[in-house]
Amino acid sequence: MQIDELTSELPGRVVAPGDDGWDAARHFHSGIGEPDAIVRAASVADVAGAVRWAAGEGVPILVRSGGHSAWGTVPGGLTVDLTALNDIDVDGTLVRVGGGATWGHIAEALADHGLGVSSGDTASVGVGGLTLGGGIGWMVRSWGLAADQLVGAQLVTAAGDVIEVTEATHPDLFWALRGGGGNFGVVTRFDFRAHPLDAVVFATLGLTGDARPILRALRDTLKAAPRELTVTFMDVPAMDPSAPAGATITAVWIGDDEAAARSALAPLLDLDDVHETDISVTRYPEVLEDMPAADPDNPMPGFVGGNTLLRELSDDAIERLVAFREANEASVLFLRSLGGAFGDVPQERTAFPARDATWFAMAGAFDIPGLVDDESRPVIVTAWDAIEALGAGIYGNFSMSTDADFADKLYPAATMARLREVKREWDPANVFSRNHNVRPG
Ligand SMILES: Cc1cc2nc3c(=O)[nH]c(=O)nc-3n(C[C@H](O)[C@H](O)[C@H](O)COP(=O)(O)OP(=O)(O)OC[C@H]3O[C@@H](n4cnc5c(N)ncnc54)[C@H](O)[C@@H]3O)c2cc1C
Repeated sequence: MQIDELTSELPGRVVAPGDDGWDAARHFHSGIGEPDAIVRAASVADVAGAVRWAAGEGVPILVRSGGHSAWGTVPGGLTVDLTALNDIDVDGTLVRVGGGATWGHIAEALADHGLGVSSGDTASVGVGGLTLGGGIGWMVRSWGLAADQLVGAQLVTAAGDVIEVTEATHPDLFWALRGGGGNFGVVTRFDFRAHPLDAVVFATLGLTGDARPILRALRDTLKAAPRELTVTFMDVPAMDPSAPAGATITAVWIGDDEAAARSALAPLLDLDDVHETDISVTRYPEVLEDMPAADPDNPMPGFVGGNTLLRELSDDAIERLVAFREANEASVLFLRSLGGAFGDVPQERTAFPARDATWFAMAGAFDIPGLVDDESRPVIVTAWDAIEALGAGIYGNFSMSTDADFADKLYPAATMARLREVKREWDPANVFSRNHNVRPG
C-alpha cells in the first residue's frame, strides 16, 4: 500500500500507524479500529482524492460518519473520516447536513429554527450510517424514516466524481441511497426536508409483573393511537449500578399537546402493572440519549440473537419474545412501534425492507461465560431463528454482523436484485465494501 503517495496528495490529512494522533483517530464509538491508514477529510476534494487513490490501489474503504457501526473495527483498508464535514445549513425547511454530522448536533441546530428531522434516538450516532440504512426514531410514525426525509445528496462516486443525486437526476441511485447502506459512494452532504417542531411530550412508564398482557395492551393501544405517538418497550438485566434491571415503556408524542399524549396512553396507564414515572413537555434534543463510547479495556460481550421487522405483533410473537428474555438471564428485549407514516411509503419507493412491518423487535443474550456456553448457545440461536422467521425482514443498522453475506438476509429478492444493478453501475469493483455489502450484479 503506497501511503506516501496518498500523503503527498493530501498533505496533513493522512494518519498512519505510528503517527501522532493515530490512537485518537482510530478510536471509533464502537471500538478501536485497525485500518492501514485514515484520511481525516476537511473537504469534499479530500474525500474524492482518497477515494480515487483507494480505488486505484484496490484498497477497501470504510467511511466514518458517527462511527457507531461494527465496521470500524474490521482490520485493514482506508478509513475516510468525515467527522470534520459537519456543517448544518438551514434554508427554510431545506436542511443541508455534512456527511459527518451527528444527530445531537442536527437536532440542536434545527430546534433553533423550530424544525425537526426524523432521526435515531442517540445523539452521537452519525447522519451517514443511520440515514443510508433507513433510520428509525421517535418520528417514525409521524414522518417516516430519516431516509424518507431525504430529498437529495452530494455523492463522491467510486470513480472519484462528485455528483448531485436527486429523484430527478439519478432515480435508481437515489432509491438505493435510502436503505441500501453505504454501498454506492460517499455521501458528503445530505439534504433533508424538515418539519415544524417546537416540542415533544416525553413519557416513561415503569412496568411490573408479566410482560405478556402489557405487550398485548401496548400493541392494541398503538393500533388505535394517532401517529404522533411512538413507543419503545425495553426489558434489560442490571448493566451497572446506574442502570438497574427492569422493563420500561418510553413514549414520545410529536408536538406539545400533553393532554392528547395522555389520552393516547390512557389504556396503558389503566393497567395495574403500569405506572407513570414521568410525562413532560420538552425540547426534542433533550430526549436524545448519550451513549458512552465502547471502552477498549472493558469490551461489550457478544450478542446471541438479532432483530426482525414484524408485520404483526401477534400473541405468538409476544409469547416467544418474552419466553426468550425469561430463558436467558443476561438478555435484552427491545420493541418499537412502526406503522403510520413509515407504512405510507410504498415498498418499491425506497430500498428499505418490509414497509408493511408494524413493529420492530430485537432480542439477544449476552455471551458471558457462566451464562452462555457451547451447549446453550445453539439453543438460544434456534429460539431466536424461530422468532426471526416470523418477521418480514431484518433492519441492517441494528445488526453488528460483519459477515460478508449478511446483506443477503436483509432485503426481499426484488430489492436485492435492483440494488445489485445499481452497485454494478456505480461501484463495479466494490470499493465500498465495509458495509452490509451488496455485490455488483
Ligand atoms: C448506541 C447506538 C444507538 C443507536 N440508535 C439507533 C436508532 O435510534 N435508530 C436507528 O435507526 N439506528 C440506531 N443505531 C444503529 C445505527 O443506525 C447504525 O449503527 C449506523 O450504522 C450508525 O451510523 P454511524 O454513521 O454512526 O456509523 P459509521 O460506523 O460511521 O457508519 C456505518 C456504515 O455506514 C457507512 N457510512 C457512514 N457514513 C457514510 C456516508 N456519509 N457515505 C457513505 N457511507 C457512509 C459506513 O461506511 C459504514 O458501513 C444505533 C446504534 C448504536 C450503536
